[in-house]
Amino acid sequence: MSLPSLETILSYLTIVAAALGALLAALWLSLIIWALRDMRLRSRDPFAQLLAALLVAVLPIFGVFIYLILRPPQTLAELYERALEEEALLQAIEERSTCPGCSRTVQANWLVCPYCHTRLKKVCPDCNSLMELNWNLCPYCGNQHIDPYKADSPASATAVYLATAVAPDPLAADAAEPAPLADAEESGQ
Ligand SMILES: [Zn+2]
Ligand SMILES: [Zn+2]
Repeated sequence: MSLPSLETILSYLTIVAAALGALLAALWLSLIIWALRDMRLRSRDPFAQLLAALLVAVLPIFGVFIYLILRPPQTLAELYERALEEEALLQAIEERSTCPGCSRTVQANWLVCPYCHTRLKKVCPDCNSLMELNWNLCPYCGNQHIDPYKADSPASATAVYLATAVAPDPLAADAAEPAPLADAEESGQ
């Protein structure tokens, strides 16, 4: 049994120190890259990104803490999400409809304003869905024969039906009448 010589111990120590140094250098470098990436998520300013990386590079451990304290609290994605939420909220407020007659807030499914009796919506005679007054086509069942302002009452709805039912007859009669004449002319010639 012989004790390892001083040289061998020293060489082992050198190897261990080198490995430790390499690990620390890798850690330092990855922290710089992390700071750069993290700042890139939080700011589009290239100067701010460079400053974050430089801070972590110059002050290896404390720089990370300083960066964590000073960095913008929200990422750009979070800011974008919040902006979208605010926009949706604003739209919901805008969509709360008001009566064109008295400007009071009305429900979306009201037919008539209860305060000033202004007509707000009409009902599709086919499927009874609520429609805007200026629509002349029902988006729920595709009914196209709706008079914008008369289709709301059943009586006028039947009138519209009668009109559409009667309308083709004269046309058919007109179309049918010349035919025998043409036949007669043809047969006459
Ligand atoms: Zn009203
Ligand atoms: Zn309909």
